[in-house]
Amino acid sequence: MQNPIFIGSEIYRHSTYGSKHPLAIPRVSTVMDLCRALGWINSENYRVSPRAKPGALHRFHTPDYIDALQAAERAQSVSDDVRSTYALGTLSNPVFPEMYRRPATAAGGSMLGAELIRDGGIVYNPAGGTHHGLPDRANGFCYLNDPVLAILTLLRMGLDRIVYVDIDAHHCDGVEAAFQGLETVRMISIHEARRWPFTGKLDDGAGGAAFNLPVSRNLNDDEFGAILDQLILPAAEAFKPQALVLQCGADAVAEDPLSRLALSNNSHWKAVAALKGLAPRVLVLGGGGYNPWSVGRLWTGVWATLNDLDIPEVLEADAQAILDALTWNRAAGRNPPIHWLRTLRDAPNHGPIRPELKEDLRRLTGRISQ
Ligand SMILES: [Zn+2]
Repeated sequence: MQNPIFIGSEIYRHSTYGSKHPLAIPRVSTVMDLCRALGWINSENYRVSPRAKPGALHRFHTPDYIDALQAAERAQSVSDDVRSTYALGTLSNPVFPEMYRRPATAAGGSMLGAELIRDGGIVYNPAGGTHHGLPDRANGFCYLNDPVLAILTLLRMGLDRIVYVDIDAHHCDGVEAAFQGLETVRMISIHEARRWPFTGKLDDGAGGAAFNLPVSRNLNDDEFGAILDQLILPAAEAFKPQALVLQCGADAVAEDPLSRLALSNNSHWKAVAALKGLAPRVLVLGGGGYNPWSVGRLWTGVWATLNDLDIPEVLEADAQAILDALTWNRAAGRNPPIHWLRTLRDAPNHGPIRPELKEDLRRLTGRISQ
């Protein structure tokens, strides 16, 4: 099989959602820089992400919304009417210089990724994973929904058994709404309970298309391991997927400011290692992740895992320099702990598997054979 392909772009390097927004931080550029410093990407396995054209976005998004998004980028402002109709120019989804071009690049990357695995293979687009985007408006930092666009690309190829796994701390409301009730897509989402967008309850099966597992605060690595072994892998495998799309949001780690979950990045890498062989076509996307060190280290380790590369215990000086150069306008950013600067791998966070999780897993796994 062909080697995994990394899809990136320089557009992510200097683009921010504004200095007060959680996405003020660089993410994909850190991953690209770390992977280059480690010798893990080169001209053979790296592709520049194309920017999706409006016509391609119309496969999911309404033309009037795409027009409004492009117009907002050009004008760098929105009217009250546009703000209320399309949720553009809000605190979550602000006006910023690349507010159309950046998400259109991420979406173009995910659609290219789907095309590249047509005959089999693995593609990684860490800029993707914007799972809250809705057909006709922005939602939760997501202006477009690239996972939906990628899955629609796979469906258009004639594939009819696609598994979508989402391990972001937030529920994938936009993806679930898009494929509600379909027999061709199975969605499996693990997310923090009682957190925005408040969808994805345990008994929400999306018309048979989804397994939703809301989890309690302080979810630990051993609990995640149980979820992986008892729910994610069996539910994915039972569907006999022709393609698997993994949204690998990095906001369920202990050091993320936007969730109260407590995973180490070992959990994400374990999921990637276990899922990558489960389908002949695998597309891995990013997602949330709001601590610049945690997200950069985690997503770099995802690429290593996809390629079976050894993750060094301590980084060499050139890779350390990339982490040393990051800044964060939060208290933790003024004095980052040493492992954020010197390593990729977190210390594991072991803990008990709580009875409520065991009970929820029992209830969900009872549905797997159906
Ligand atoms: Zn998230």
